[in-house]
Amino acid sequence: GWRWTEVESLVEELKGEEVLIRGWVQTIRAVGKNTAFLVLRSLGYTVQCVVAVAPELVSRQMVKFAAGLNKESVVDVQGVVTVPFLPIKSTTQEVEVQVRKIFCISKAVPNLPFNIEDAARSEKEIKEAKLAGETLVSVGQDIRLNNRVLDLRTPANLRISDIKSQISIVRDYDFGLTIHRAFAIIAISWSFPTKAFHFDWIEMLVLFLSSEGFVMIHTPKIIASSSEGGSTVFEVNYLGQRACLAQSPQLHTQMTICAGLRRVFESGAVCRAEDSYTRRHLCQFAGLDVEMEIKEHYFEYLRKTLKLTFQEGVQMLKEAGIEVDPLGDLNTESERKLGQLVLEKFSSTIVVKLVPDFVLLDLGEEIISGGQRIHDPDFLTARAEASGIDVKKISAYIDAFRYGAPPHGGFGAGLERLVMLFCALNNIRKTSLYPRDPRRLVP
Ligand code: ATP
Ligand code: MG
Ligand code: MG
Ligand code: MG
Repeated sequence: GWRWTEVESLVEELKGEEVLIRGWVQTIRAVGKNTAFLVLRSLGYTVQCVVAVAPELVSRQMVKFAAGLNKESVVDVQGVVTVPFLPIKSTTQEVEVQVRKIFCISKAVPNLPFNIEDAARSEKEIKEAKLAGETLVSVGQDIRLNNRVLDLRTPANLRISDIKSQISIVRDYDFGLTIHRAFAIIAISWSFPTKAFHFDWIEMLVLFLSSEGFVMIHTPKIIASSSEGGSTVFEVNYLGQRACLAQSPQLHTQMTICAGLRRVFESGAVCRAEDSYTRRHLCQFAGLDVEMEIKEHYFEYLRKTLKLTFQEGVQMLKEAGIEVDPLGDLNTESERKLGQLVLEKFSSTIVVKLVPDFVLLDLGEEIISGGQRIHDPDFLTARAEASGIDVKKISAYIDAFRYGAPPHGGFGAGLERLVMLFCALNNIRKTSLYPRDPRRLVP
C-alpha cells in the first residue's frame, strides 16, 4: 500500500516502495508533452518527482496538469521510489519518485513576491555569478522581511531557526544541559588559543544552572512602570491605567529571590522601544534571565580565571588613544574597539569586562551582562534616585528588600544576539522569525 513518507526519508533502501509525499513545488520543468520534472521541498529537503506518460498509469493530461502547477503550491504525490543510474546532485535526496498521482492541495499565486531560489543564494554566490558575467536577482532584506513566510522557506533560514531552537529549548529538567550546550557551541566555534577560558565560563554557568533548585518562573510582561531607569518603554493601556511592557524581568526575578525561591530563571519575551535602528537590537527579543541567591562574592571565582579586567580594558583603550571613564560603563563604540584590540593582542574574540558588574563581549558585541545586585533597600533607593528613577513607582520592588533580602546576583542573555554572533550573521533580524524593530510591526 501507499505509505506517507517525509521527503528526507526517501533513500535508496526504499527502492520500489510506493510512497505518498507532501511538499512545496520548488521547480517545474517540462520536457516535451510527455514528461515533467517537479522538485518537491519539505523542511529544506528536496526530491525530484518524474511525471512521465505511462500506459494505464499516467496520462498526457496529468503531465500537462503537473507542468502547469504554480511554484510553491502544496501538492501530494503518490509515486514509486526509484534509483536513477546517476545519483541526483541538485536535490538533497539522490533517489527519484515516479509519479502515479498528483493532487494540488493548495495553489500558490502565480506571481510570488520573489523567487525562493533567488533568495536562497548566498552573497558569495551572487558575487561569483556577477564576476562570471551572469545576472542574478538579489533579493533585498526588506522585501524578504515583508514576505517572511516565503523567506523562511530558504535553507539558511531553516537552519537559523533550528540552531536557535537547539540553543533555546528549555525544559526545567535539562536547563543546565541546554545552557551547557549553547555555550559549548559558542566555545567550540569561537575557538582560540586559550580555550580553557571558555570552559571556565561553561563550568561557571553549569555550576550556576544545573545545580539543584533552579525553578522556571514566568513574571508579568505588563507592568506598572519601567524596569530600568531612563530607558524607553512601550506604553500600553491597561484597562484605563497607564502601564508598559516589561523591558526586563529582572525586578521580578529579584523579588522572587526575596520571596525565598533561592534560584530562578525565566526564558521569555523582552520588549524594548529601542529608539535607534541598529543591526543588533530588536524591539522584542527572547531573553534568558537567571537570578540566584549568593553566599559569597561570586566575582572571586571569575577573578581567578579572567584574562581581562575592566581596568585592563580601560588601559588598553587608553594606549590606543581612547579615553574612557574608568568608573563608568563603556559605550558601544569603545566596546567594539576593545573587541578589536583584544582580537589583535590575544587572538580572542571574547572579552569579559568586570565593571562592578560583568559583561561578556564577542568582538565588542555584548552577549550577556549581569552582576551582583543591591539588596540593601536604603542603598537601592539612593541609587535609584541618583539615576533619576521615580522611587514611588517602584516601591513594591524596593519594599521587597525590607523584609529580609538575601544577597543575590544574576545575568541576562539575548537569544537572538547569541544566535546572530554564533552564526556570524550581519544582522539580528535574520535570527527572528518575525522581527520587530523601530520601523517594523508586520508580519
Ligand atoms: P546593549 O548594550 O547591546 O544594548 P543592554 O546592555 O542594553 O544591551 P541588557 O539589559 O544587559 O542589554 O540585556 C541582556 C542581554 O539581552 C544583552 O546582553 C543582549 O544579549 C540582549 N539584548 C539587549 N537588548 C537587546 C535588543 N534590543 N535586541 C536583542 N537582544 C538584546
Ligand atoms: Mg541596550
Ligand atoms: Mg550594554
Ligand atoms: Mg547589558
